[in-house]
Amino acid sequence: MVRVMAIVGAGHVGGRAAQALREFGWTGDIAMFGMESHLPYERPPLSKQLLTGEREASHCQLRTRDDWANDRIKHVVSKVARIVREARTVQLDDGQSIEYEALLLATGGHVRRLNIPGADLDGVLTLRTLDDAARIASRLASNARVLIVGGGFIGLEVAASARKRGCNVCVIEGASRLLGRAVPEAVAEQVQRLHERNGVSIRLNVTPEAIERLSDRTLAISLKDKSVIHADIVLVGIGIDPADELARDAGLAVNRGVIVNAELETSASGIFAAGDVAIFPSRISGQPIRQETWHNAETQARVAARNMLGAKTRYDDTPWFWSDQYDHQLQVAGEPALGVKCIKRTLSDAGSIDFYFDANERLVGTSGFGLASGFAKEMKLARMLVERAKSPLAEMLSDPSVKLKSLL
Ligand SMILES: Cc1cc2nc3c(=O)[nH]c(=O)nc-3n(C[C@H](O)[C@H](O)[C@H](O)COP(=O)(O)OP(=O)(O)OC[C@H]3O[C@@H](n4cnc5c(N)ncnc54)[C@H](O)[C@@H]3O)c2cc1C
Repeated sequence: MVRVMAIVGAGHVGGRAAQALREFGWTGDIAMFGMESHLPYERPPLSKQLLTGEREASHCQLRTRDDWANDRIKHVVSKVARIVREARTVQLDDGQSIEYEALLLATGGHVRRLNIPGADLDGVLTLRTLDDAARIASRLASNARVLIVGGGFIGLEVAASARKRGCNVCVIEGASRLLGRAVPEAVAEQVQRLHERNGVSIRLNVTPEAIERLSDRTLAISLKDKSVIHADIVLVGIGIDPADELARDAGLAVNRGVIVNAELETSASGIFAAGDVAIFPSRISGQPIRQETWHNAETQARVAARNMLGAKTRYDDTPWFWSDQYDHQLQVAGEPALGVKCIKRTLSDAGSIDFYFDANERLVGTSGFGLASGFAKEMKLARMLVERAKSPLAEMLSDPSVKLKSLL
């Protein structure tokens, strides 16, 4: 049997890792196994331009069909059912076994669904894949009533896209604030005001109890506070569960995600994990973290590929993500949650950037929110300060006359 570099999951990480294996000199076979029929694609446009109609599905692909073919990278549409460690094989759904040289788990996550009566009714939707996005986009008619369950990034991005399409949008969130712990409370409040200015109704501290079909068009969503909301579609955006079941069944170390070391290797030699599914040591705190971001997918894929080829490269990138909503952008770099002190830098009319320091006056994270066109340049410098582990004096960061560039 010919051994191959095997990648389970042909999503963002899977695609980029396959590409990198070739780039880094692997001349043997490479196979990406994926459950979706699409070639590897990027997910950020799914909640944004794909819903507003500003982008087409084909423009989300990481590369063209010819690029994969020219690199002799096989895309196998099949679920991987099992890893047999002793034999160094993966078993596909149809029973076929493939012996691997090294294996990468790039399985991402499964969207969570509501566990209430009516959760499986037609019109109750989730968003993770291109097919999901197409389904949602086809229902965002002007004046459609859209109820979004969950005030996290996906829910809020869909809210902004649905408003652009002329829908009536309501977001309900079980917590007392939007965006969970992903961003500081003050930023979450700014995001809430932005949505309210754009006509979205936001209700905090409410959770759904049951969904019922009232007519061909109307779903009735009963909330725990006894109120009822009528909607044409319900978009459930309550997060993902890491798709770690293959690893768990194979006896790898798992804890709501596949645990890897700094080289992205799992507890089994020759098996790596990267992307949404991987729990890796943070370069800032040293603690295990998991990231669900484009940047993490992009950068971990390359390190995993190098290490599948025998390098011992440490993954030491700084977390970073963005979210686009209306004409605004939110960016977070580092780990603001580790901060005990926050310093604000106001950027004329373009927005503001917050810097977070830990108890040792170490800059551990930054977040920024503002007009996408206005604050990107400043935000890039703020991110670089965190990446380069600089810890400038707080007074300098808050003083807009001190150029961030001079602090690098
Ligand atoms: C709607 C949406 C919008 C986003 N927007 C942003 C953004 O604005 N900014 C940002 O930083 N990040 C954003 N992200 C996050 C980013 O896209 C993800 O972090 C990234 O896609 C993770 O890549 P991955 O390869 O780990 O997982 P995925 O891209 O999910 O790929 C995993 C693949 O593995 C397959 N798979 C799972 N199990 C098996 C199996 N047993 N056998 C075969 N195949 C399997 C799955 O079907 C899937 O295709 C967004 C995500 C979504 C869903």
